[in-house]
Amino acid sequence: MYGVGIARGLWVTFRHFLNTYVGDIRRASGEYLGSTLGDTPFELRQGLKARGVYTVEYPDEKLAMAERFRFVPFLVIENYDHPDRPGHDWCTSCGICAKVCPPQCIWIVRGEDPTTKRPIPEPEAFYIDIDICMNCGYCAEFCPFDAIKMDHDYELASYDRTSNHIFDKAKLSKEFRYWVSIAPSVAEEEAEARGGWEHPDIIKEKKKAAGGGRGAAPAPAGTPPGRANPPVTGEQAATSEAAAGVAANVEATERAKATEQEPGPEPAPAMSDEDKAKAERLAKREAALARKRAKEGGE
Ligand code: SF4
Ligand code: SF4
Repeated sequence: MYGVGIARGLWVTFRHFLNTYVGDIRRASGEYLGSTLGDTPFELRQGLKARGVYTVEYPDEKLAMAERFRFVPFLVIENYDHPDRPGHDWCTSCGICAKVCPPQCIWIVRGEDPTTKRPIPEPEAFYIDIDICMNCGYCAEFCPFDAIKMDHDYELASYDRTSNHIFDKAKLSKEFRYWVSIAPSVAEEEAEARGGWEHPDIIKEKKKAAGGGRGAAPAPAGTPPGRANPPVTGEQAATSEAAAGVAANVEATERAKATEQEPGPEPAPAMSDEDKAKAERLAKREAALARKRAKEGGE
């Protein structure tokens, strides 16, 4: 029969309309008279079981972001109260994210040792043009150090797009605990895959210090540094000292290797045929002169 579909659709809309008021009446004591009904009214209204049509009064009210929501990326740094490397970059400036970024909106300047001028594994500068970034998440997917993550902060509008929308390292950097707070289960999965809550390099050093290699058992994930900062125990201090020792050894070995690899004096350029002939002639003449002097001396 014509019009049944339209009538059904209108009934669905009307039901939502009615449910809005039914829900309001059921929650009236809580929502309008100040009681919380054991839950916040906003969460009740916006939860999966909510019935009816409700307006989110943005910006006073905001919908909760799904854990895998992704907006402009940020750089992970150690928590500022980390016992060994407070505020240290997780990024090693390997450049993979800049390479895979489809619209090419990442620009990295690799850091260098002020004394030796050799490159060091940390970025001196890191920029993302957030107007060009399309929030695809490739950079976060490809980073081998879990150092760049997709953010939940979508309120980035500003009146000046020239400088405000080019995010530099200071603007991009956020503590590891922030990542754990916005994506707890993803952070946990990653920590499990890395073998601990620390930076992959630290985990590797700790495994080496413990005498493990490739086959060594992964370090226990333990308490995420982002969620709590447990006091450093004597054992942990010893481990971090050992790790620091290993790091120093690795650095010394690398320095030694670099010295070995430093180019020696330039090899002499190959002689042309003409020069060779000249050198032979000179040698013969020297030899003849020497023979003559010897003969004269003998007489
Ligand atoms: S964020 Fe990750 S992929 Fe990008 S340069 Fe740093 S370590 Fe490499
Ligand atoms: S999210 Fe995509 S577009 Fe944005 S910086 Fe990362 S790779 Fe580039």
